[in-house]
Amino acid sequence: MIAYQRIQYIRRRLSLRSIEHFQEQIATIFQEAMSIPSFTNTETEREIEDYLDQRIGSIPYFKSHPQHFGRYPLPNDHLHRSVNWALVDKGKKKTVILFHHHDTVDLEDYGPLAPIALDSEALVQALKGIDFRSEMQEDLDSGQWQFGRGSCDMKAALALQLGVLEAYASDPEGGQVNLLYLSVGDEESYSRGMRGALSLLCQLKDEFDLDYVLAVDSEPFEATSDKEKILHIGTVGKLMPVVVTQGVLSHMKEPLKGINALSLLIAVASKLDLHPDLSDQALGEQSPLPSWSYLRDLKEQYDVSTVLYAAGYFSVLHLKKTPQELLQRIKELSQEAVDEFNVKYLSLQDQAGQEHLIAQPWVISYQELLDRCQKKEGFSSFQEQCEQRAYQAFLTGVSYQAIAIQQIQAYLDFLAEKTPLVVIGFAPPYYPSMNCRSLPNTSLKIGTLVDDYRHYLGRRGLTLKVEEYFMGICDTSYCALERDLASYQVVLDSLATPSQVYELDLEKIAQIQVPAVNLGPWGKELHQRGERVFMEDLLDTIPSYLFGLLYRFDELL
Ligand SMILES: [Zn+2]
Repeated sequence: MIAYQRIQYIRRRLSLRSIEHFQEQIATIFQEAMSIPSFTNTETEREIEDYLDQRIGSIPYFKSHPQHFGRYPLPNDHLHRSVNWALVDKGKKKTVILFHHHDTVDLEDYGPLAPIALDSEALVQALKGIDFRSEMQEDLDSGQWQFGRGSCDMKAALALQLGVLEAYASDPEGGQVNLLYLSVGDEESYSRGMRGALSLLCQLKDEFDLDYVLAVDSEPFEATSDKEKILHIGTVGKLMPVVVTQGVLSHMKEPLKGINALSLLIAVASKLDLHPDLSDQALGEQSPLPSWSYLRDLKEQYDVSTVLYAAGYFSVLHLKKTPQELLQRIKELSQEAVDEFNVKYLSLQDQAGQEHLIAQPWVISYQELLDRCQKKEGFSSFQEQCEQRAYQAFLTGVSYQAIAIQQIQAYLDFLAEKTPLVVIGFAPPYYPSMNCRSLPNTSLKIGTLVDDYRHYLGRRGLTLKVEEYFMGICDTSYCALERDLASYQVVLDSLATPSQVYELDLEKIAQIQVPAVNLGPWGKELHQRGERVFMEDLLDTIPSYLFGLLYRFDELL
């Protein structure tokens, strides 16, 4: 009798430990979520929140634990969005977080196919007749791929993680950890969802006495073979330096009596563009070279004066270099650039018999600009007005970069120094870089997790490739900090936007301090017309692994 019960028990455990029964659910969730538009940074994101809330609310566990899930409103969000969350509390302290974003990019790339961009079957039929690339035709014919906007980035993650949640919530006793599910918006824009979720994570940690041991994001990976899966155990950091130059005005007929702000900006931009010192190398990987996104004058209308102000911004993707080091190097290179310009300029003045009446151009940081302004009377009330204006502009949809530029220009105006200046600040959003191998105050053995995943894949005839950094920029940046808080202060000091406009609570990240990996399905042509996800990963490979992990987590600590 005992033996029989034991067998029944083992059978029950085995069936619970497999996610087979939930594959159908994952497929249903995927279909439903795909059909709901949730374009990034638009009101449509709320529709997917409604869906998630209803779906989670209908799970029996959450029906009887209504205080264990909900929608957490993003503070000061003009689109009134929320973070969806759900906690399966197994009475443990150790808690694994599964999270993903539910926003997608828009349909621009679909052109005339936009009306069917959320319908995989219709897209397959349409693409067969217009996209004749051989790999595409093979995938269309194989029946192994789901197509459509958001299929791999990232409704697949939504479906498979929610499927794992449903499966885990249906097992009343098993499992070694609690499971916290999070679905956030705005990832494709400014990561407001994940930044807003930091307060929620701190709150839940206190309320339910949780110890966050691992966070898993499920962004898609790109690979060339169906036999290889990729795991990212870190993520690239992203800084966006903004450069505002101030020239000295003159009439166009006498350009050597002034300095054109565009001359300074061009000098700085050509020096920094693709400069190898602003790329980064770590753990055998290399971050991309810096590249400019915007360069222009700030004249409101054309006239025959030279340009007084000009501005530009670019991205710096980094791995191990600190924001302080990067800012320092950007300043040095910029100073070199304007010095070289000045040598040429002085000799042109000499040739023209022009006196050297203009000061040498100087590069300062945003913080130095503020220090100079603070020495002038009336700055604090001026600053308040500027910040109010910036907030109003933000509410009407003005970009972070434009607000940062306006702010720096306003302070230069206030300072009213008639000398050539180059100001370097940062514009949001900022993504800290992170790698699980170098996180202080965490208990996860990352090498053991890697081995565990490799064994799991090996049993299925698959191989694992570990990438140290996810280069696509993602929300795992906000899970843990590699360094002490003071190391990031320079970013907060250099952000040329007020905190009502962009908030990044680094202290909360340090409180959460959870190692985060990116473990998701195989996807192709993200953000493009051919976006698609590999069904086997969506329905089986990835959710089965994540589900099983919850039952043997103790081995990883
Ligand atoms: Zn994504």
